[in-house]
Amino acid sequence: MSTDRDQAGGLANERNDHSVSRRDVLKQGVAAAAGGAALLGTGATAFGQAPAVARGAQAGRRYRAFLTPPGGRPRGIETVILREIQAHQAVVRAEAAQACYTIVNLLAPPPPPAAPAAAAAPAAPPGAVLAGHGAVGIVEAVGSAVRRVQVGDRVIVPVTQNCGQCWNCLHGRGDFCSAGAGRNNAPIGDLADGTPVNFGLGGFAELLVSWEEQTVPVATDVPPVELSLLSCVMSTGLGLATKRMPVEPGMDVLVLGAGPLGLSAVQGARIQGANQIIVVEPVPYRRELAMKVGATTVLDPNAFPTMQALQQKIVGLCTPRITRSFAGARGPVAASGLGPYGPQFILEAVGGDRFPPKVPTGPDPTGVQTLQLAWAVCPTGGIIRTCGVGQPMGSTVTFPAGQWSNAGKTHLPGNFAGVNTFRDIPQFTRFVEKGLFDAKSLVGETFPLDRARDALQVAADRTSISGVVTFPS
Ligand SMILES: [Zn+2]
Ligand SMILES: [Zn+2]
Repeated sequence: MSTDRDQAGGLANERNDHSVSRRDVLKQGVAAAAGGAALLGTGATAFGQAPAVARGAQAGRRYRAFLTPPGGRPRGIETVILREIQAHQAVVRAEAAQACYTIVNLLAPPPPPAAPAAAAAPAAPPGAVLAGHGAVGIVEAVGSAVRRVQVGDRVIVPVTQNCGQCWNCLHGRGDFCSAGAGRNNAPIGDLADGTPVNFGLGGFAELLVSWEEQTVPVATDVPPVELSLLSCVMSTGLGLATKRMPVEPGMDVLVLGAGPLGLSAVQGARIQGANQIIVVEPVPYRRELAMKVGATTVLDPNAFPTMQALQQKIVGLCTPRITRSFAGARGPVAASGLGPYGPQFILEAVGGDRFPPKVPTGPDPTGVQTLQLAWAVCPTGGIIRTCGVGQPMGSTVTFPAGQWSNAGKTHLPGNFAGVNTFRDIPQFTRFVEKGLFDAKSLVGETFPLDRARDALQVAADRTSISGVVTFPS
């Protein structure tokens, strides 16, 4: 019987190698482009991926997921009954999913049910939401219109879609793709009592129903537990250092915060060829990790009596050995935030504490002083990239109006750090394969799905560099 995969295997044979081009991937899907089962002749799919186990109708499949149910019911593991997938959706069997600090608020008690509005039109029944921030897994089934991936592909389901068609995508800002707005609120399944289940940002579930625009093939044998970081923090950290306005070789780089995101930024700066990589982090084991993956200097902010003392230390580290001008008349190093010296590239990955950590906390749990430090320590012409989240509502950052333009400081905020998922996540995967990026060191503790709450707890407590939920293959 001839199949698409057989034909793709023929294409690969004609090239006389097993290489996979992006053109092949986009046209045929990764498994097909690599030759797939027919080429390997073993019944296994390419890259050691799991064989496809589900074809045809998806409706009625039951799987377990960590859910935020409506009505103030406790969050936890429940059984979801899948609805039929839509034409542009795929069903992905999860292999691993990281517990982001961004979502540790799921540990808080759920909000009470809202009082019904009098006289208002009856609202749609509130749905349950899948918790998580993306995942890595294997495509088990695809809708009739899906072209980017194929059954058997190992894929990253990142936190953002990348449709390539919306205003932001067309202007090079796939990290702000607007295709996801609303679509992830569409029910993909139901609980036994009929409560609809929405995908949300998914991840802590045995199955994910993802839109094609949010399903990125990564042809690789890198262990899934390491790949899981690519759905959010690792891609964001690497994006901060390597995308849109990347670190240039020889720059002095300051990284504020050495969580999994900051440590990814450290490695991105190292890959880019930074000169110094100075890391500020209050937690001792995280400072050690920073040195392991590429930092040249680590500083404990709690060892400095004031933020200004920390600022002066950083500026001093970035002051050249010879500071005289050709006229020999340059004055002392300024500590006013106007340079002339300091780290040319500053990456902020701190944010605010959602819960009191069980490890040493920094001098300012709100994270606002860190943002002020980023501005103050940035020299004339420097670049500041921020991505920390969780600063208290209503908090503000201030800076002298005269510096806004005249200090020549460039600020690029984070979100997904300018990452174009289909372009960049496969590239980041190659970084891991080639040994340029140490993902293994960023995997802290792993947990089965039944302990998803514990994965969130170690992230909230910061007792481990990361908590990852893994699924049996
Ligand atoms: Zn995240
Ligand atoms: Zn888009």
